[in-house]
Amino acid sequence: MSPHSRYAEFYRRSIEAPEDFWAEQAKLIDWHAQPTRILDDAKPPFVNWFVGGKTNLCHNAVDRHLPTRGDSPALIHVSTETGTERTYTFSQLHEEVQRTAASLLALGVGKGDRVLIYMPMIPQAAFAMLACARIGAIHCVVFGGFASGALASRIEDAAPKVVVSADAGSRGGKVVAYKPLLDEAIRVSSHKPEAVLLSDRGLAPMELVAGRDHLDSEVAARLSSADVPCEWLDATDISYTIYTSGTTGRPKGVQRDTGGYAVALAASMKHIFDGRAGETYFSTSDIGWVVGHSYIVYGPLIAGMATLMYEGLPTQGMNREPDGGIWWRLVEKYKVTVMFSAPTAVRVLKKQDPALLKKYDLSSLRALFLAGEPLDEPTARWISDGLGVPIIDNYWQTESGWPIITLANAVERKPSKFGSPGVPMYGFKVKILDESTGEELTAPNEKGVVVIEGPTPPGFMQTVWKDDARFVNTYWKSVPGRMVYSTFDWGIRDEDGYFYILGRTDDVINVAGHRLGTREIEECISGHAGVAEVAVVGVADALKGQVAMAFAVPKDSQALSDPARALTLEGEVMQRVNDELGAVARPARVRFVSALPKTRSGKLLRRAIQAVCEQRDPGDLTTMDDPASLQQIRQVVQG
Ligand code: ATP
Ligand code: MG
Repeated sequence: MSPHSRYAEFYRRSIEAPEDFWAEQAKLIDWHAQPTRILDDAKPPFVNWFVGGKTNLCHNAVDRHLPTRGDSPALIHVSTETGTERTYTFSQLHEEVQRTAASLLALGVGKGDRVLIYMPMIPQAAFAMLACARIGAIHCVVFGGFASGALASRIEDAAPKVVVSADAGSRGGKVVAYKPLLDEAIRVSSHKPEAVLLSDRGLAPMELVAGRDHLDSEVAARLSSADVPCEWLDATDISYTIYTSGTTGRPKGVQRDTGGYAVALAASMKHIFDGRAGETYFSTSDIGWVVGHSYIVYGPLIAGMATLMYEGLPTQGMNREPDGGIWWRLVEKYKVTVMFSAPTAVRVLKKQDPALLKKYDLSSLRALFLAGEPLDEPTARWISDGLGVPIIDNYWQTESGWPIITLANAVERKPSKFGSPGVPMYGFKVKILDESTGEELTAPNEKGVVVIEGPTPPGFMQTVWKDDARFVNTYWKSVPGRMVYSTFDWGIRDEDGYFYILGRTDDVINVAGHRLGTREIEECISGHAGVAEVAVVGVADALKGQVAMAFAVPKDSQALSDPARALTLEGEVMQRVNDELGAVARPARVRFVSALPKTRSGKLLRRAIQAVCEQRDPGDLTTMDDPASLQQIRQVVQG
């Protein structure tokens, strides 16, 4: 990064004069009372932003737009599962959110109480989140695709006064009844919520527990008034908790503040996403993930944009017919300017007819942002060629709330480099450290752990819910002799200051004394034209310590049934790794499977694959998407 560039200057100010910088950004939102102190970091690693300030996320997302754009679209809901499509204006959203807020109040919810939201992607889910923010209740959204085990442990941890849920979700046309899963989760949890507020979509029958369960329509009908003003909260009051994906272990309850988060999102909409009031933002994520919190619900609305909330598969039309062009149809119809998705979704689309990308008028689209896992170069190139707009990888975590490393193209346009998410975002002091000595690595292309030096910027997690010790011990004490936040990801920085994420620190394998990142091997293998997807894990080996094992999904499914084909492909893949990375990195075997085990957020579950290879118990699989894929790995390994 040239030290004289506009972004470099912007970044430098955020690091050297954080109080001035963030006081400036704080003007992007409405305050009921101005902060008296911008930054309080007297007790590191804890940070308080905008101390003394009073604000409200719901006010900033909804109410403040009423005078200027009350009749403009705010929430556009499209479900290809139920074939429904509906737009709420800011005024209508305001009305709905107030009604839900009044219902929660009627059920006894007060400031600081937890409300657990276990919902499909329906407008009522967004109403419930905004309603909590409005009255100062803490929402804990649990991904609607989770079954009762994962839900029960989260109910236990969050101890909600009320649960908001629905009769059912639907995935690929298959109805999944939520209510029995919720009942079972409450039964096994030692914490019992006082009330359950239910939306009835008419998809599955519900048995109501007398005295506990309430239909939202009935509660709303009994309200004497549905006028609920925003509760002015301290900037440091908790807005929500959300659990990490659980890719590497027991999920952590990430706790977030109110004022810092609002400012961070408003600033990111301006500088990173370049989303402007009156336009439409389309994030294909789910409200169960942090991306859904930041960029389906709060971010776009705070910016005065309409947000498109989508229920359904990326390959399904309005009548549930196969349609690999549905997202592009929506981009055209709603004139989406900013789109946000994940590499895993793009890989699904890559299997569709590329002509679908040319069928619609996508001229409104300015950029596609992708996050959540490494964006491999072939996938980035495919979508970039197809859309003809900048493809912007962004690296972040549930913990950070917004991108840590990406490009702030609205501050200064920089070229994307495929394979790199970009440069550190303003406010984030990102460093690369030697994991064993804690020494900072400053030369280009030296590999180390990616860490963040405090004070962390606004929007970053405050702590682990109810567990300050876990926050400090897990995140801030992993590098010897230095109190820095570890991302637990490996990375390098090139001579231009662009970072490359090389995988998770616990995905490193040690082959005969050589430390190798599984991501590098995966990147190399996915460059083979015959490979659609690949996972590499380290497996214990008596001689070498560990060896790499690769599991690949072939593009040609014949490699699954024809051993001769499989052997040829395996040989080619091995040769490729040999040539590009060297013999040490060459996997012991490359096995072919039809699907890889993933979390419901689409991330590879390497730890589960590794456990199966080593004949260990794969542990907590409650957040896993498709258990049959792990079974297949077991068979391949044993056969
Ligand atoms: P857990 O912490 O519970 O194991 P998780 O880390 O998968 O789960 P998230 O917070 O959803 O939970 O994911 C953040 C992680 O995802 C990052 O630490 C990184 O490993 C990966 N990641 C996210 N975005 C990118 C990206 N653009 N490039 C590479 N990796 C990414
Ligand atoms: Mg993590």
